This record gives sequence, C-alpha cells and structure tokens, in this order.
Amino acid sequence: MKTVTPVYSITPFTLLDYPDKTACILWFAGCNMRCSYCYNPDIVLGKGKLSMAKIMDFLHSRKGILDGVVLSGGECTLHKNLIPILKEIRALGYFVKLDTNGSRPKVMKQILEANLVDYIALDFKALPEAFQAVTSADLFAEFEETLMLLIKSPTRFELRTTIHADLFTEKDFREMVSFLENRQYKGNYYVQHFVNQVPTLGNLGYSGREFINKDFSTAHIQVVFR
Ligand code: SF4
Repeated sequence: MKTVTPVYSITPFTLLDYPDKTACILWFAGCNMRCSYCYNPDIVLGKGKLSMAKIMDFLHSRKGILDGVVLSGGECTLHKNLIPILKEIRALGYFVKLDTNGSRPKVMKQILEANLVDYIALDFKALPEAFQAVTSADLFAEFEETLMLLIKSPTRFELRTTIHADLFTEKDFREMVSFLENRQYKGNYYVQHFVNQVPTLGNLGYSGREFINKDFSTAHIQVVFR
C-alpha cells in the first residue's frame, strides 16, 4: 500500500473497547462532526501521524496475542483508504470492530457488502431537531441511512449515546428510544453519561446524573447505562 497516514495514534492493548475480546485501537484523525462533549479533541483536530507500514508492522507483531483491532477516532469512514486498510487487517486474521458516527452510509454499505468488519458501534447523537446543536453538523439523514443499513444487515452492531444534561432532557431521551422502536431496532442501546472534568472539544458545564438507573427499556430495546 502507498504511504498514507490516517492514524493519529495506537492504543496497544484494551479489554474495554471490543466486547469479549482483547484488542488494540487505531485512532483515526479528523472528524466531520464537532460534538462539544467529545473526549478526543486532539484526534478530531489533529492529523494522522503513523504510516500504514508502521501500523501493519505493529499488527504483524501482535498476531496470536490480540484477538481484534478497533478502528476508532475521529471518524474512520472519512478516510479514502479505509477499505484497503480493512482488507489488510482482515488478511491478518483479526476480528475487526469499527466505531462510527454513521455519517458515511455509502462507505458503510461497501464495508457490509464485503464483510470487512465483525462488529460496529454506531453513535446515535440525537433526533433531527437536536442533531445540529449536539454535533454542529447537518448529518442526521446520513446517520439514519446508516442505522437502517445496519438494522437490515446480519453484522453485529450496538447503538450508543452520550448524555449531557444541557443537551438532553429525559423526555428527549424517551423520544430517542421511541424512534428506535419505530425503526424496528431490537437489542441493546448503551448510554454513557458525560464524564465531568475531562478535556473536551467544547465548553459544556457540569452535568448531573439524573438519568442513571431510570428504566427506559422497552419490549425489544434494552437500555443499558455504562
Ligand atoms: S464525539 Fe463527535 S466530534 Fe468526537 S469523534 Fe465522535 S463524532 Fe467526532
């Protein structure tokens, strides 16, 4: 592969980011959203630093030690070499998980059709009325298209939302669950509360944890707080 440097950094080992697997994380630089609660401002605003040759050397050295590779960011589907990168990682025999904001449904379609990933974590940022305020981007239609692709696909995926009290009321969140029900989503829906006092992209204030431990689950959707 030609010299390309989409990756900002590598986390060499994690037990937390790929369900039931040991993995490393490739952090892809750049994003087409600007969520104020984003914990990765350096990656979102930064440039790739590691060549693919270095990344592949690392992945070769971990064969048989790690189960999987997580592609996160930033937004990895923005990178024009993502498909060949996924093919190279696949050829090494790793399980592959991809984290995405869902803004590139055409890329997602290619990935699913070629069976290049085993697991996807899709961010459900907000409903259309709030999407721009949460993400600073007009990409809800693209997110919805990605969601529908995944609902119809056999590839395993999870949905997740970050909650900050300035951005969501309890009523807003119940409407998000109803939206998923209306799209026939079945499965787990993970909610992580904003972690106060860590560096973020924007300047959100303190957020209380009123949401935690309330029951939002439905017959087909299990809402799980992380
Ligand atoms: S939280 Fe928002 S800004 Fe940060 S990487 Fe995800 S989509 Fe991009």
